[in-house]
Amino acid sequence: MKSSILDGKATAEKIKTHIRESIEKRVQDGYLAPTLATILVGSDPASQTYVNMKNKACESVGMKSRRIELPENTTTDQLLDKIQELNEDNSIQGILLQHPSPPQVDERSAFDSILPTKDVDGVTTFCYGKLAMDQDAYFPCTPYGMILLLREYGIEVSGKKAVVVGRSPILGKPMAAMLTNLDATVTLCHSKTKNLDEIVKTADIVVGAVGRAEFIKGSWIKEGAVVLDAGYNAGNVGDIELSVASEKSSYHTPVPGGVGPMTIAVLLLQTLYSWEGKFSPALKSGK
Ligand code: NAP
Repeated sequence: MKSSILDGKATAEKIKTHIRESIEKRVQDGYLAPTLATILVGSDPASQTYVNMKNKACESVGMKSRRIELPENTTTDQLLDKIQELNEDNSIQGILLQHPSPPQVDERSAFDSILPTKDVDGVTTFCYGKLAMDQDAYFPCTPYGMILLLREYGIEVSGKKAVVVGRSPILGKPMAAMLTNLDATVTLCHSKTKNLDEIVKTADIVVGAVGRAEFIKGSWIKEGAVVLDAGYNAGNVGDIELSVASEKSSYHTPVPGGVGPMTIAVLLLQTLYSWEGKFSPALKSGK
């Protein structure tokens, strides 16, 4: 079977065009362009690169970004004070705290101090609860990007068996919740899962969110499965052995050019929504 590519780059460009046009229109009506605040604690080079990419992406759609860089030894209280300041600043529509924070920072407290109406990265417990209840919210950007990609290509999720490998709070767990809300039957796997290969072999939709290069083997992929690889590891490889998996899958996300560009597009989209005074719409199970 020839596997079709789920082109995240092209789909992200479509979303960005919509965002750019929406901003242009409202700015012509007299509104100030939306602003995303990005907070980077410390100087991890990969995190710096991600924040740079997000700031540039804002510019590319006519959004402003305010870049806040805090020193490596920032305390939780100092970070909470900064977030509070941004919460109260009416010129800021979205707040992104780049993960991971240095170890002395209580990152969960920091995430949860972001005002839910500015949580455009979908990291607060509030938004997670809303997602779990299948209500409107800001959703974590990487999994929601994968859902929008499935939607773009008209891939039916309802009734499918989905296997998500990885259960982090920003990726695997919310992805399992979203697929459940779209009426898939979901198995969520992690480091204690036994017989992972046998479980993956049953999946109509496979999501790799492990953080280990080509950990999910191509031989585990069922004929015709849809393969979504969120992984991004050294050497431009994902968490799934795509060279083999794509021989059997019906659709797959390439690495790079699959899930990565969608993550940034969703961040911008949810910042637009915040500016427009709304959340991302619930996925709606059973509809
Ligand atoms: P993470 O927080 O390190 O979580 C990794 C998950 O994988 C954990 O739930 C862990 O299980 C599970 N795991 C580890 N070893 C396993 C094994 N042997 N068998 C089954 N599961 C195993 O990682 P993350 O932040 O979710 O990121 C995952 C991947 O996505 C990484 O490659 C990262 O670079 C990529 N990512 C990409 C984007 C993007 O924009 N494209 C954004 C975020 C992340 P336990 O819970 O049991 O420890």
